[in-house]
Amino acid sequence: MDIIKATVWNEFRHEKINNRVKEIYPDGIHIAIANSLNAADDIQANTATLDEPQHGLTDDMLDNTDVLLWWGHMAHHEVSDEIVEKVKKRVLEGMGLIVLHSAHFSKILKTLLGTNCSLKWREAAEKERLWNIEPAHPITKGIGEFFELPQTEMYGERFDIPNPDKVIFISWFQGGEVFRSGCTWQRGHGKIFYFRPGHETYPIFHDENIIKVLTNAVRWAKPQIKKPDRCDKVEPLEKLSENRE
Ligand code: ZN
Repeated sequence: MDIIKATVWNEFRHEKINNRVKEIYPDGIHIAIANSLNAADDIQANTATLDEPQHGLTDDMLDNTDVLLWWGHMAHHEVSDEIVEKVKKRVLEGMGLIVLHSAHFSKILKTLLGTNCSLKWREAAEKERLWNIEPAHPITKGIGEFFELPQTEMYGERFDIPNPDKVIFISWFQGGEVFRSGCTWQRGHGKIFYFRPGHETYPIFHDENIIKVLTNAVRWAKPQIKKPDRCDKVEPLEKLSENRE
């Protein structure tokens, strides 16, 4: 069996300063997600965080990453442009990228999509119903027609993104808004999945359906090829007419 190497990146700040978040994720969101992914036989998940040298995303780490998961919120601006460029290059070469919740505003997603990625939001512990509108897609394997999260932060349209290749989930919120909660794009050879749920003060990453979606998404986003970008001058394959100027 081929093992997919996943790296869960987290800015790891809320967990250190907010007791509620610390209670839900005592070791950090990244560890909770990595532990859940590691329950799958075919996934080996590591972690990296903002305050490590190079934000934990050294060349060696990226060489050993098939799929990178990204959670960030309060410290997007602290992520170095150099690391963002490096991650972007890896995605274009084939590495998968799964962008979680408030990382809609991460430098890496904004640079790969080229739009503002802004949205409406409200924190009122309301119910969210996620409609699975692509039941044949690998990311929704084992997910029913919909699933619910009893308490979430609301994200509402319009979400300023380029048209996704596929919209996988549409969320409805108790307060009336809707949102494209699961979207895929391809950039270069890399697959990108944005998945909305994951506010730090609710136990979202302990939810069975969320874990199932993330596990499926890692499998879906694994590289089909990893191919460095080149721009070669080449000789013709056939002999060209000698009359050519
Ligand atoms: Zn949030």
